[in-house]
Amino acid sequence: MTTRLFCYHCTNQDNSMNHQNFSLLTSRFLLPTLRLRSVQALSLLAVLLTSCQSATPTADPNAIMTRAVQTAFAALQQNKATATPSPASTPASTPTSASLTPPALPPTFTTNTLSPMVTPHTYISDSCQYIKDQWTSTNAAPGTIVFAIMFHSIEKGTAQVSDSKNVSDKDFQAMMNSLHDEGFTAINTQQLADFLYRNISIPARSVVLIQDDRHQAQNFIDHFLPYYKKWGWPVVTGWISAFGGSDPYLQENVSLSNQGWVDYQAHGVVHNIPMSDGSTDEYITGELQGSITNIQKYFNKTPIAIIWPGGGFGVRPVQFARKFGYQLGFTINPRGPMMFDWIPLADKTDPQNPLYIPEGPAHDPLMTLPRYWPSQVVAALDGIRQMGNAAAAYAQQNKAAELQYYNIMCAAKDGPIQ
Ligand SMILES: [Zn+2]
Repeated sequence: MTTRLFCYHCTNQDNSMNHQNFSLLTSRFLLPTLRLRSVQALSLLAVLLTSCQSATPTADPNAIMTRAVQTAFAALQQNKATATPSPASTPASTPTSASLTPPALPPTFTTNTLSPMVTPHTYISDSCQYIKDQWTSTNAAPGTIVFAIMFHSIEKGTAQVSDSKNVSDKDFQAMMNSLHDEGFTAINTQQLADFLYRNISIPARSVVLIQDDRHQAQNFIDHFLPYYKKWGWPVVTGWISAFGGSDPYLQENVSLSNQGWVDYQAHGVVHNIPMSDGSTDEYITGELQGSITNIQKYFNKTPIAIIWPGGGFGVRPVQFARKFGYQLGFTINPRGPMMFDWIPLADKTDPQNPLYIPEGPAHDPLMTLPRYWPSQVVAALDGIRQMGNAAAAYAQQNKAAELQYYNIMCAAKDGPIQ
């Protein structure tokens, strides 16, 4: 069960695929064929599209997408796996002589705490670069782990939320305190990108708080500002560019952006119709380039992340996102936490969670990053920490072999590891 295809050093596979659009970082885990999505996933798409067909760019994007995301939420099943994570494979043996034959590199860390259909996907094709970034002493320590949380609305003064995808402010505060008590620190999208691409140091237990959709400034002031003041925690928000310069919430949001603790990223223009492989080039371009153009114009920044509206993405939307310069993409799929060169994703529809679009066929893990629902977070924290600890132990176990490989195969061209 643990013999995976995704040995992250199997570079022979990479050479067979054409990934020139993905710059230096390409998926080292490649599916042999593009698999059809299940009927269920297509059904979700149909629901999403049907619910939005009458929408126009001038309709309220928040209200309409609420229903689409609600549909996905209805199928949410808590991941009850609590078993202790463990490395699934034995490490490669360490050669005893300093021959010029490099040791075999170990398979990617995995864990039995992921959903059965979910496997870690790697994305760095150059083993030398991976090893150098992994073991550079000033970079993030092995086992550094981060996860993303998506928020829709945080409801004030209610014990029982009116909409099950929302969270009450009481539960939100409890969740934030749990994160802090368990040693997590919030980071922004640039920190996440630097970590995922180059293993630049972030706190060993990190979290990305993502508030979807347009909100008034008061939302951030009420719910997130106290944690920025106490702990310096930023919040990320997916901005819908539907109303351009006439958005009544624009100026107050620009003001927050200028303050630096709310990180505005892209969340579409029409937003109400999720992107998919059935979308036209014009529609995908409008959503992705349109978001960049609007955020550049009004916020004076260039977004690096697309928070896929309605959780909808596909091979073409991902390729377009790369073309326009996006570095990260977030789904609504709660697959697990993330580590350097390690993103848990599904290659096929998970029968336990049939509404989540499988990410594997898009072949670009960084553009299909998972996010947790707020209701899952507190119960998941201990498992996430344990996963980081197990990955750290596994990395230490393999360090000598990786460094030996580097010295034989990489050092002459890539220089010593500092
Ligand atoms: Zn949305």
